[in-house]
Amino acid sequence: MKLNPDEYRAVLDRARELSMEWIDSVPGRPVAPSKDVDEMKAVFARAVPEGGTDAIAVVEELAALAEPGIMAMPSGRFFGWVIGGTLPASLGADWLVSSWDQNAAMRYASPGTAAIEEVAGEWLLDILGLPEGSDVGFTTGATMANWVGLASARAFVLDRAGWDVNAKGLQGAPVVTVLAGAERHASVDLALRYLGFGAPTVVPADAQGRIEIDALRSAMSRVDGPVILCLQAGNLHSGAFDPMKQALAVAHEHGAWVHVDGAFGLWAAASPTLQGQLDGIETADSWATDAHKTLNVPYDCGVAIVAKPNVARAALGTQTAYLIQDAAGASDPMDITPEMSRRARGVPVWAALRQLGRSGVVELIDGLVENAKALADGLGALPGVTVLNDVVFTQVCLTFGSDERTREVTRRLIEDGAVWMSGSKWSGHDVLRISVSNWATDADDVAFSIAAVQRAMAAAE
Ligand SMILES: *Cc1c(COP(=O)(O)O)cnc(C)c1O
Repeated sequence: MKLNPDEYRAVLDRARELSMEWIDSVPGRPVAPSKDVDEMKAVFARAVPEGGTDAIAVVEELAALAEPGIMAMPSGRFFGWVIGGTLPASLGADWLVSSWDQNAAMRYASPGTAAIEEVAGEWLLDILGLPEGSDVGFTTGATMANWVGLASARAFVLDRAGWDVNAKGLQGAPVVTVLAGAERHASVDLALRYLGFGAPTVVPADAQGRIEIDALRSAMSRVDGPVILCLQAGNLHSGAFDPMKQALAVAHEHGAWVHVDGAFGLWAAASPTLQGQLDGIETADSWATDAHKTLNVPYDCGVAIVAKPNVARAALGTQTAYLIQDAAGASDPMDITPEMSRRARGVPVWAALRQLGRSGVVELIDGLVENAKALADGLGALPGVTVLNDVVFTQVCLTFGSDERTREVTRRLIEDGAVWMSGSKWSGHDVLRISVSNWATDADDVAFSIAAVQRAMAAAE
């Protein structure tokens, strides 16, 4: 066998055509898939193929069979969970990352991708107004970015208490108190679970889901020993930001490590009109965000940022002779992320920032918020519709009178399939939840989506 470039050329040409068939269909197609997962399992289920198949035929079969089960998440009319689309330069860069097939674990082994990721990290710190020189690790998502921040926190606060957690683990360690707001994201709990902490001590939140400062102050005053505070920039339902400056002041009085989960909301820090809501956030110790949400790079790409030098590396680094780590002693990507072997997932981030520039990032973020406000205004004006949250960022939560009617409107809307918004429960109510995260959503999509909700309301009568 020999590497024959022509075999790749033919397959990639066909994959490009099939990708464009999908992308060409996105603006006009319903968002919902036409088959559910059981139907899709029936489409793909077959015994292990005994013999091989031509590579082009494989790619063609894959595209044809998968199509009915692919949700149009890149559509400007998709508002489910917090997802986001893909910028053209990022998708192109992602293809190159696959073609290069680098194991981007070490600077020595993959100098090109290591340099690109380091520059992307420096650009992110600049754009988000976070401390220059912070470690930036590109993870699979914000769950693992939260994990990196909290693993760094664990190592740091225990080291300060005279305990080497890498050597001794948690058994017999000084008790670390982890405080987090009542409306933190579930991934914070998951990260804490991975780290052997169990559930955090919960601090009550206000009606918008923001941590309450008086409650935080009294919870902090009861703590004896090492303490970590988890704050949130961007509540899943309301988009609200914890009051950073006040919370950080309380935390700093008590010597706490402060980690901020800003999976989608940290991006507000890039916008001159929005950044006031995050005032003081740069004085935290670690931050987690996603590039695959608000920045619109392809899955999967999260970003972990740790301000104190060498802390992430002390928590996550490994040293063995065979790996050949950086000669000058700089942090290798694998020293500040959970994985050893890893995809160069920071490269599409570089491409997104290169395509947009600082001004384009600001326009992207401000545009998402403008569309969220337009959806809230348009939908809130319909009879019987209440917007439950203050629309301060990209999220909108609606009720349609009773919980039962809200569930029925949500069901009808999803059944209709022309747009996608997901249901949830918040503040004791069933809600229809909207997240505007796609760079491609425009005023036409907003009008189209309001009309789709009106149709669902009429069908639910
Ligand atoms: C999405 C999200 C996460 C988890 O991020 P993943 O990229 O799914 O791992 C964490 N926190 C918040 C606020 C989120 O919206």
